[in-house]
Amino acid sequence: MLVQICVTLLTTALLVASACYTDSPPEQRWWAAGNVAASVGMVMCNLDGLPPLANAVLGYAVIAFGLGLVLRGLRVYCANTLSWTSIAIITGIALVIAAYYTYVAPSLRARLCFSGFYFALLNWICALAIAQRRSWRVSGIALAGFVLLGGGLFLRGVHMATHGDPADGASSLVIALSALVVPLGQIIIAFGLILMVMWRYAERLRRLSTLDALTGALNRAGLEMQGKRTGLRAQRGGRSLAVIMIDVDYFKVINDTYGHPVGDEVLRHLARLVRLELRPHDLLARFGGEEFVLVLDGVDREAALKVAERLRARIEYEIVEFDNLSVRYTASMGVVCSDQHDYDLIRLISAGDAAMYEAKRAGRNRVIAG
Ligand code: GH3
Ligand code: MG
Ligand code: MG
Repeated sequence: MLVQICVTLLTTALLVASACYTDSPPEQRWWAAGNVAASVGMVMCNLDGLPPLANAVLGYAVIAFGLGLVLRGLRVYCANTLSWTSIAIITGIALVIAAYYTYVAPSLRARLCFSGFYFALLNWICALAIAQRRSWRVSGIALAGFVLLGGGLFLRGVHMATHGDPADGASSLVIALSALVVPLGQIIIAFGLILMVMWRYAERLRRLSTLDALTGALNRAGLEMQGKRTGLRAQRGGRSLAVIMIDVDYFKVINDTYGHPVGDEVLRHLARLVRLELRPHDLLARFGGEEFVLVLDGVDREAALKVAERLRARIEYEIVEFDNLSVRYTASMGVVCSDQHDYDLIRLISAGDAAMYEAKRAGRNRVIAG
């Protein structure tokens, strides 16, 4: 029991310390708060000096409340939530079980047994909440921890239900096993939750470093990283790789006439339109201010010209509505293909750029093949 309390306090300290970072995700704070509550509850249940109301009733309710908060954190992690009413019900059930076997039908054995079953069930509900996300690589460890902890508590409950006084069973194998499994489960859960948070931070960093905040397209770094992969994949598969360079015509005039926010909206609009043409392995990157690159896997020169022409016509046709203003714009495009320029993305982009400038010189709002 001492080991279990120490492990609970240490894992709680670990979760609290990692949640103290100012930008920590909300779920991490729920997990830390839930663990603090569960620890306080465990200490209350184990301090014999406390009055029975705190020791034998409220302690269980506080543990259940902590588990409710942890469950809320897991649901938040899965882009969901758990209402305070549900948390109150979770807490209330533990309170009723403990109060019933303390005041109505006093029995330490029944109290430990049924609250054990109940806490096992809550841990399994936590495991189920994680399982629904189906990202085993990220949350498999926490999932295993909740299943294991639930299993340990369940075994302990079963043992108490089938054997006499809990004090007599202290030496039994089941009690020894659950004394090992329960702290182990807690450690695994703490590691698993922190791992889940690390993945979230890694994902946040990846987005920040490779995506353009305005349009959601890849930025230069993202294009460099993913472009290489796309080029290699196409080359290995013997498919051609097409690059379309897109530049908004007279964008400076749009900015100067309607203001920068409208210019920004035009860029977002263009990115949205281009995305409609994308298939899973294609890439869209914002190459500069109002210049975009489209990398198409398995598309030859003729097909790329068709895509570009369709896109150009769509852009010319569409109207951007923003702040009671209606703005139209056009774009010039340069199209190149690996059949002429090999798979080197840098060469493809500079050839596409040259073709795009040719389109500008030829009068804009047109597509030119490099
Ligand atoms: P051209 O037809 O020859 O392409 O002319 P242009 O006006 O489109 O090209 P130019 O290079 O002269 O102007 C590009 C402008 O894009 C200048 C810059 O202020 C603006 N710009 C760059 N990034 C952003 C942005 O993120 N938002 C907005 N609103 N404007 C931007
Ligand atoms: Mg331009
Ligand atoms: Mg430009």
